[in-house]
Amino acid sequence: MPKASPLLRIAVPTPLRRSFVYQPPETLTGPEIDALRPGIRVRIPFGRRQLVGILLELTHEQDVETGRLRPALEVLDREPLIPEHLLRLCQWASAYYQHPVGEALHSLLPVALRQGKEAQVRPWPKADTDTADQDAAQPLSLNQEQSEAVQTVLGELEGFSCHLLDGVTGSGKTEVYLQIIAEVLAQGRQALILVPEINLTPQTIHRFRQRFQRPIAVLHSGLTNRQRLDAWLRAGDGSAGIIIGTRSAVFTPMQNPGLIIVDEEHDTAFKQQDGFRYSARDLAVMRARQEDINIILGTATPALESLHNARQGRYRHLRLYERPGARRKTRFELLDINGQRLQEGFADELLTRIRHHLDAGNQVLVFINRRGFAPVLQCGDCGWVAECSHCDARLTLHRSPLHLRCHHCERRRPPDRHCPDCQSHDLVPVGLGTERSEHLLQNVFPEHRVIRIDRDSTRRKEAMDEHLADIRKGQPCILVGTQMLAKGHHFPDVTLVAVLDADSGLFSADFRGQEHMAQLLVQVAGRAGRADKPGEVLIQTRHAEHQSLQTLIHDGYHGLAGQLLGERAEADMPPYSQLALLRAEAATAGAAANFLQNARRQSEALLAQHADEGTATVELTGPLPAPMEKRAGRYRAQLILRSPRRSTLQGLLTALCQQLEADPDSRRVRWSIDVDPLDML
Ligand code: ADP
Ligand code: ZN
Ligand code: ZN
Repeated sequence: MPKASPLLRIAVPTPLRRSFVYQPPETLTGPEIDALRPGIRVRIPFGRRQLVGILLELTHEQDVETGRLRPALEVLDREPLIPEHLLRLCQWASAYYQHPVGEALHSLLPVALRQGKEAQVRPWPKADTDTADQDAAQPLSLNQEQSEAVQTVLGELEGFSCHLLDGVTGSGKTEVYLQIIAEVLAQGRQALILVPEINLTPQTIHRFRQRFQRPIAVLHSGLTNRQRLDAWLRAGDGSAGIIIGTRSAVFTPMQNPGLIIVDEEHDTAFKQQDGFRYSARDLAVMRARQEDINIILGTATPALESLHNARQGRYRHLRLYERPGARRKTRFELLDINGQRLQEGFADELLTRIRHHLDAGNQVLVFINRRGFAPVLQCGDCGWVAECSHCDARLTLHRSPLHLRCHHCERRRPPDRHCPDCQSHDLVPVGLGTERSEHLLQNVFPEHRVIRIDRDSTRRKEAMDEHLADIRKGQPCILVGTQMLAKGHHFPDVTLVAVLDADSGLFSADFRGQEHMAQLLVQVAGRAGRADKPGEVLIQTRHAEHQSLQTLIHDGYHGLAGQLLGERAEADMPPYSQLALLRAEAATAGAAANFLQNARRQSEALLAQHADEGTATVELTGPLPAPMEKRAGRYRAQLILRSPRRSTLQGLLTALCQQLEADPDSRRVRWSIDVDPLDML
């Protein structure tokens, strides 16, 4: 009897947490089947549809009797489109983040390849390869700290190691990357650089092209499908030495991987917040380990997780304390606004300082983490406030154009003319947004330009670049904006950074609130005094005595981070424990809670089965209503799962997911699992 030909185990893009087994296509001969390699695409029948799946392995195991297995229709690739190590990474991620493997793999492919199009690489366009118009930039001569960092990494370039490059803003981390990359390229290997924001890619690319005078493969959401495909294929065939991209670029194939860099590693943008909820930073570390290469996590404000890993010796901690050259450190100052007269949120003292800096020919940055004109529209007579009818949230007043908008579900409506409760016409905007600050500043400083940068003012594709070009002209001006301003940009002429309100971060309901507040303040502050001019940072607060603010001002980010780590240890919170959230949303609060109550019972039963094994356990909290219970018309609740051991939590989640998926009642709610959640909202 001839040996039975192997079957194909295929990852199919469906929400089911499993793979599927098919017969090989009928047209293939035995040797052709044996030659099929994991990572190729296969067209398969699925129900009444045809889908593109990825071959995971040849197998002799089957889930149902052979007679009922359907044959695959067509093999789409000769060579694996997804190299073996990436396939493994993705399978690992799918298991770790409890996301269906077919969907996970699918999401990493460029759209054209998901659709089954041919993986044909095109030559580089002339604009990419033409470096004649660019001035070549020579490597800078490094200061002592930079040089030590470069030497340390180069000394360990063989094999896996993870470096936390922890350097104050402006300390020259990028120069460190560049000099290490030069060596990686000289060895004929590739470097993958992950950045948190699409806005940061143009300036990064520019710097890299000037230095290396070679084309760079770029991957982010602003590209056409064709551009994305090209970049992906050029990385995969090794023709791109440098690959720069945002979050999902962590899944870019590389022919000769040599180095991964995650810049601004603390940035929450590296965590995908819906669907496949992976952390690109954590996956990058996993990937470097699997591919046996180096990884550098760079930041001025390390995530507490990364700092903890460095303290434990898992990451090598490289520190840059100095800014190269004669540039002085930024000075922090708290401005206590209790009992002070405020003009639209600005203390007189602050306005005086702003004038002083403008008069000296410098630029000023005003940071306020809220878009719109005012976060609240309130009745001056009875206290009524305008709320979203679909969310537990207040509506934000926008002035240009005039409307009320919910920042959680994006619903908008015209502002009320009078109070619906008491008919009063005395409706007052309360609180501050970027538009309101822009308005005030323009009135107080009519002779200067006020440039507002937030999601509304940069909606148009080129708007951000135009604003940045304006600012680079160096004329005295005021920049007003949200955290978009805090990220990675260089504003060499900014000498004063004003933070209008530091207080919301101090009292956040989220256990990461203070960490994120500190990162934000330090990053915003880092925009000041980057050139030869010294910078100062003024923080308005009603809680100048707050211990966290005091620690931040006097002992810097690392002082506060140490304190926060101590508190986390005390409270058994990450990084000292592992967290996952089971979230549910439904048309009624009761349905969401019932589902989670049921999930809790199942979890308890699963845990009881293993109770005698003496392993760590999982603590369950909830179901609790989400901090914002109603959003976009649906009620949200959550069950918090916490364990001292990753593997224990992992095991429970996997078993629980399978049960929930199989339970027809689950279909009545929308549920999801968030492993290592970054926010609890
Ligand atoms: P970071 O990424 O740490 O915020 P950058 O790498 O952007 O800092 O460097 C900040 C500025 O310092 C840049 O203008 C850069 O050209 C300059 N710089 C970096 N290293 C040196 C050096 N060794 N000597 C002189 N200038 C340097
Ligand atoms: Zn009223
Ligand atoms: Zn809403």
